[in-house]
Amino acid sequence: MDEDFPRTVLELERRFSREEACIEYLAALRWPGGWVCPRCKMADAWSIRRNRWLCEHCRYEMSVTAGTIFQDTHVPLTIWFRAMWQITSQKNGISALGLQRVLGLGSYKTAWAMLHKLRRAMVRPGRDRLDGVVEVDEAFWGGEEIGVVGRQTEDKALIIIAAEEDGKGIGRIRMHTIPDASSISLHGFIREAIEPGSTVRSDGWRGYLGLDGYVHDRQVQSHQEDGEHLLPRVHRVISLLKRWLLGTHQGAIGQEHLDDYLNEFTFRFNRRRSKSRGKLFYRLAQQAVQVGPAPFATLVKPQPVVPGGVK
Ligand SMILES: [Zn+2]
Repeated sequence: MDEDFPRTVLELERRFSREEACIEYLAALRWPGGWVCPRCKMADAWSIRRNRWLCEHCRYEMSVTAGTIFQDTHVPLTIWFRAMWQITSQKNGISALGLQRVLGLGSYKTAWAMLHKLRRAMVRPGRDRLDGVVEVDEAFWGGEEIGVVGRQTEDKALIIIAAEEDGKGIGRIRMHTIPDASSISLHGFIREAIEPGSTVRSDGWRGYLGLDGYVHDRQVQSHQEDGEHLLPRVHRVISLLKRWLLGTHQGAIGQEHLDDYLNEFTFRFNRRRSKSRGKLFYRLAQQAVQVGPAPFATLVKPQPVVPGGVK
């Protein structure tokens, strides 16, 4: 299937009005070369009964949603497809309350869980690392607001952000929460997010010292013009992230769930130049059948509310 996606909401409504159409679409995304039995690896003899794939060799049976974020869902796929459309068709995404309203869902909890499951699908397994020149810095979430204000965390969440240099502009980004600003945390993120051999540009913080396998461009400057940043790209990303968290989500985000939101922000940002919103829908659906299930119990952890983070 070559980038087959609905282009308008009307197309979506027409094409995915029945469960069967949604199942067919997901099956084509999940098994582009046809179904292969996960148990005996045979691909030549299978049948479909009540939307379940049955292996004629070993009798293994599975549905297209098994082992995906849609596993065990009580929500019809037609509703999931509309949720994926909502989250990708709007420039800034949608809050759980907004999704509940627009889809007429019975409970806020359902809308919230759907959004979080979809956010899990926004990180592509085995995605590429950033390369070239990459700016890296940390920021806080919680307390008054997000911002780079020293390195004590206490009841704030610490986020590390990487932004590729693309001429004067920004290329791709990566971000993640980290427990502290130690070398172990910073270097761990850098190794995961940035291709070895790349240039890592940071400020003078000692936690960045001793970075093996990278060119370290350490920016230390005692005098700085007002409004001038040594790491302008990463600071631009931080300010956009802050605006998004406080705008679309009114800042109502517990630290426990922050990474899910960072995933969504990154997904959107890295596709900001995409001309078609339908293409984002396609990517999300594709990744949703590639990542594992996220049972509700793993989404709902005790949520310490970030002081000042909830209104
Ligand atoms: Zn089999």
